[in-house]
Amino acid sequence: MKAVRHVGYKTFPELKDIEKPTPGPGEVLLKVAGAGACHSDVAVFNEFEEGLNPKMDPEFTLGHENSGWAEELGEGVKGIEIGAAYLVYGPVGCGVCRACTRGQDTYCENAADMPYSGVGLGLDGGMAEYVIAPARNLIPLGDADPINAAPLSDAGLTPYHAIKLALPHLNGGGKTALVIGLGGLGLVGVQILKALTGATVIATDMKPEAMAAAEELGAVTVPGGEDQVAKIREITGGKGADAVFDFVGVGATVKTAMQSAAVQGRVTIVGIGDLSTYDWAFMTTPYEAELVNTYWGTVEELHEVVDMYKAGQIKPQVTTYSLDDALEAYQALVDGKIAGRAVIVPHGEK
Ligand code: NAD
Ligand code: ZN
Repeated sequence: MKAVRHVGYKTFPELKDIEKPTPGPGEVLLKVAGAGACHSDVAVFNEFEEGLNPKMDPEFTLGHENSGWAEELGEGVKGIEIGAAYLVYGPVGCGVCRACTRGQDTYCENAADMPYSGVGLGLDGGMAEYVIAPARNLIPLGDADPINAAPLSDAGLTPYHAIKLALPHLNGGGKTALVIGLGGLGLVGVQILKALTGATVIATDMKPEAMAAAEELGAVTVPGGEDQVAKIREITGGKGADAVFDFVGVGATVKTAMQSAAVQGRVTIVGIGDLSTYDWAFMTTPYEAELVNTYWGTVEELHEVVDMYKAGQIKPQVTTYSLDDALEAYQALVDGKIAGRAVIVPHGEK
């Protein structure tokens, strides 16, 4: 079968022919419906260097944001229906530690000893005709469209987890949230904030078309520039934003995020950016402003994200590509030319 392979650091992926896999005990073989192209993949093949994260050492199939139809069950698997559509929870931890047993494989206590981080992150991913996932990582989609659902497993789950943890800061009248970076994650983030809170959502991006998309979703936008922080503070009545979500994560956006935060606000950095640093200083930090980073989310939260999708509260903005054109999608992502999310559909749209 055809698969998009991570073949080396600082090396563009390749479309190769590999063997169709067979599910082992506890695993399920899925015929891939959709595989989203996440900016983190660009970090893996373009920015990571040998030795930085051995779990991402080549070679493996990319794609950690997947949906598909169950095709074959490995030994001992029960409760998965052949032919039914599922969303894949990508992180794969040891499965038995405290974090994994509460469905938070992202913070597996045995991560240091694991040879991979997840499906498409060390293990072969979904940019292929078929993918294997542990049965416990599958969330049933029912009648919901699996192709548009594919981005939910990262571009939906990651902002959902970040926003859910920040909800106490947005609970009440007159609250404001700031979203920096309106790509795959940020545009879903705006929708989650609108659905879960009554906060005014302020949004910013370098691309005018990304800001226009956020406005359509009900956000107030503020362009970049020297007076950006002043404009954001003005919209918040001078207070600053109660919760800030940075889906870019470069030094400059972390600085903007912290300068825009309210006293006792919460700043969540989700973007992995350029690995540059941010200088924290007492005198320029709003009192009790929390600065945290978050990584992906839990299995249970992914069920909740799917519930929101089924209820029409989240609709990822998707552009589809065939598997043959997958490298074109990654190139467009590298060039900043994707609006919303690029999703690879190896078996076409149904
Ligand atoms: P994307 O390429 O789809 O979107 C990024 C958006 O940010 C684009 O619209 C771009 O125009 C905008 N942008 C870039 N630089 C900017 C700047 N300086 N100021 C304002 N806007 C800017 O990317 P994505 O797939 O949505 O991923 C976003 C980030 O989140 C990436 O760094 C990715 O690696 C990271 N990520 C983190 C996690 C996690 O668990 N922490 C999970 C998935 C993705
Ligand atoms: Zn674990």
